[in-house]
Amino acid sequence: MPVTSDAPDHDAEATRSKPADDEPALPVNELFYSLQGEGKLAGTPSVFVRTSGCNLRCWFCDSYHTSWEPTHATMTVDEILAEVDGYDADHVVVTGGEPLVHDAVAVLLDRLDDAGYHVTVETNGTVHRDVPIDLASVSPKLASSTPTAERDPKDDGEWADRHDDRRLDVDTLARLVEAYETQLKFVVSDEGDVRELDELVSRVRAAADVPVPDQDVLLMAEGATRERLAATRERVAELAMEYGYRFTPRLHVTLWNDAPET
Ligand code: SF4
Repeated sequence: MPVTSDAPDHDAEATRSKPADDEPALPVNELFYSLQGEGKLAGTPSVFVRTSGCNLRCWFCDSYHTSWEPTHATMTVDEILAEVDGYDADHVVVTGGEPLVHDAVAVLLDRLDDAGYHVTVETNGTVHRDVPIDLASVSPKLASSTPTAERDPKDDGEWADRHDDRRLDVDTLARLVEAYETQLKFVVSDEGDVRELDELVSRVRAAADVPVPDQDVLLMAEGATRERLAATRERVAELAMEYGYRFTPRLHVTLWNDAPET
């Protein structure tokens, strides 16, 4: 079961008073305590701050209510800090959506850094900000993420071109790996995805001033439900061994399926 808490419901916009215009605030879809499910810190108890709003529209997005149909409460940075502080955790994951599209995220990250938290930022790698981040968990989107009309959850393919134009920015990826401890985390369905990411990693290596070791490149099986994950992960594990990259589990899916706040 997901860890539950007495924390308020962040979908309830109406329960909060509107922050003053000069108060830094963010659209927050949910704020909860759980285990980090993916990547180098998999298994680490962490507070998750999930912002709403994304500049992409992956068809398989597992946080639909931050991208395709964004919902949120508006929380001031002070309110977010107070709730994070209510949990007994020293790791915070700022995720989305795409958290770096919001100007106020810089204030939040400064304040979390000042308070001594280890902060992971989950980003799609299309936005760079000069902010304190302990682990940049960068998840570039491959061609298979495009919401073509056949795969679009809204059935019209309206976002396909915009998504394709925005989904990769090698210069921004290079700046991220230069600035932060980074993991490049890819959602993979088949070998075509691995060939594509292999080529992208080569381009990032050519553009960056720092090495990008294979162990910082993580393959994650596509699947936001236990059933789907069970169908894809074995093949992705084999591909990780074949190409020399790292396989990452999705512990939250294995443990809690697609339950919210996990
Ligand atoms: S980048 Fe992430 S949050 Fe945005 S649509 Fe893709 S999977 Fe969803």
